[in-house]
Amino acid sequence: MVVFSLLLIGAIAAAAASFYIIRIKRKLARDIARRKQSEQREQTRNRVLEMLAHGASLATILEAIVLGVEQERPDMLCSIMLLDSEGRHLLNGAAPSLPDFYNDTIEGFGIGIGAASFGTTAFTGQRVIVEDVQTHPYWSPYKDLTSKAELGACWSEPIRSASGKMLGIFSIYHRQPHRPTVEEIRLIEQTANLAEIALGRSHADRALKESGKLLSDILENVTSYIYTKDTEGRYLFANRLLRERFDAPMEEIAGYDDYKFFDADTAANMRKDDLRVLQNGETLQAEETIPNMLTGVTQVFLTVKIPLRHEDGTIYALCGISTDITERKDIEEHMQHMAQYDALTHLPNRALFEDRLQQAIASAQRNKARLALMFIDLDKFKPVNDTYGHGVGDLLLKDVALRIQDCLRDSDTAARIGGDEFVILLPAIESQKDASKVGEKILDALNLPFALAGHTLEISGSIGVAVFPEHGKDEKLLVKSADIAMYHAKKNGRNNVKMHQKGLQAISE
Ligand code: GH3
Ligand code: MG
Repeated sequence: MVVFSLLLIGAIAAAAASFYIIRIKRKLARDIARRKQSEQREQTRNRVLEMLAHGASLATILEAIVLGVEQERPDMLCSIMLLDSEGRHLLNGAAPSLPDFYNDTIEGFGIGIGAASFGTTAFTGQRVIVEDVQTHPYWSPYKDLTSKAELGACWSEPIRSASGKMLGIFSIYHRQPHRPTVEEIRLIEQTANLAEIALGRSHADRALKESGKLLSDILENVTSYIYTKDTEGRYLFANRLLRERFDAPMEEIAGYDDYKFFDADTAANMRKDDLRVLQNGETLQAEETIPNMLTGVTQVFLTVKIPLRHEDGTIYALCGISTDITERKDIEEHMQHMAQYDALTHLPNRALFEDRLQQAIASAQRNKARLALMFIDLDKFKPVNDTYGHGVGDLLLKDVALRIQDCLRDSDTAARIGGDEFVILLPAIESQKDASKVGEKILDALNLPFALAGHTLEISGSIGVAVFPEHGKDEKLLVKSADIAMYHAKKNGRNNVKMHQKGLQAISE
């Protein structure tokens, strides 16, 4: 009995020991497999990062990720699908172990809830675990496809950018229905993360390339001269327009300063402006008048120069943008001229004359000096128009303007203020007599015959004169006095000069 008991105990102990040994062996095997898998995963990760660093293509990198997982877990078949640019369809990124007919069928797969595992994940942004594709409603329209491809389970994980943007889907398939373990969930998450690094880089590369191209398109096609210069004033970059102006390729511009492309004075002025930007950090805006060395034509540029700084704030270069505003300037000048001068005679118009009269009165007041204002209205001008036509009348007005100017000094101003009305400002006279003399001189000049368009014409004028300060202490009174005097000259039989005098009354017509 005792022997039997001992034998029984020994047998139980041996069984327990061997059961224990089996468990230990299994655990060891599991541990070894896990370690192998984690080493394998590490290797895949390192390989992928190395490929990224060496600029391998996205397709090669995605395939390496998928093959890495499949090598770690030969029971799995993996795929990475990419979301198209509209974010509506999935495109095959890498699925080397899935059959071609399967990949072809799901290429361009529309996303949405119930659109297989990956289509649903792409739509919801959530992981979708389908343990059995034959029974799951998401896969019901694709039962034949999955049977033919011999697929049993499909788990899909979203691949998102750091900012949360959906980039694609990583999927793991099994031949048989399969529920993921915690470790397998970790695998799917880690692989999706690795894919995100690759896709993120590819997106960043594309964005960089696109923004680089955009910038270059702008620089090369803009109708301004854009350039950068280093602190010594040597060109670093010149856009197409500037290269064309210099008639030189980039290699013959980079490293050279403005003395190569402009005359010494212009280059020195540019350098002065450049230094304000480079040394003082100013943003400069200036109008530059620059002769074109190739054509000799002077052009006006509106130039803006800004300092370019390193992260620590030190200035390493400047960027300049110069826009040719020559035409605009010409138009502006023309418009200004039109606003101030009479289009027919090119004499100052009423607005400019009033301005000059105001200034002259102010100056005469300050200097206690005299000035004279003269009103001239041509006599019987209407009949000239009626007899010879408006065109000949115009020619006569132009010649009258010239003759009046010939009687004046440079400091005097003659203006046309109406049809056949002219005014004259003599800003510095000693006495009323001086003014009368100028009036007589003008009358004599007008009395000489005019040869116009094959006709000989005769004309005269009636001139009224008022002198500051005695005939008016301000512009308004002086104008009124000269006007009254002119009407008296008309009344006196025309072709005479009438000096205003105290008590001279306005004549009502
Ligand atoms: P008066 O001796 O009284 O001054 O007689 P007038 O014929 O000179 O008459 P008035 O000064 O009142 O009229 C000037 C005329 O000048 C009226 C108009 O037909 C004409 N006129 C006005 N502007 C122009 C113009 O730009 N060109 C031409 N050809 N004639 C003009
Ligand atoms: Mg007249």
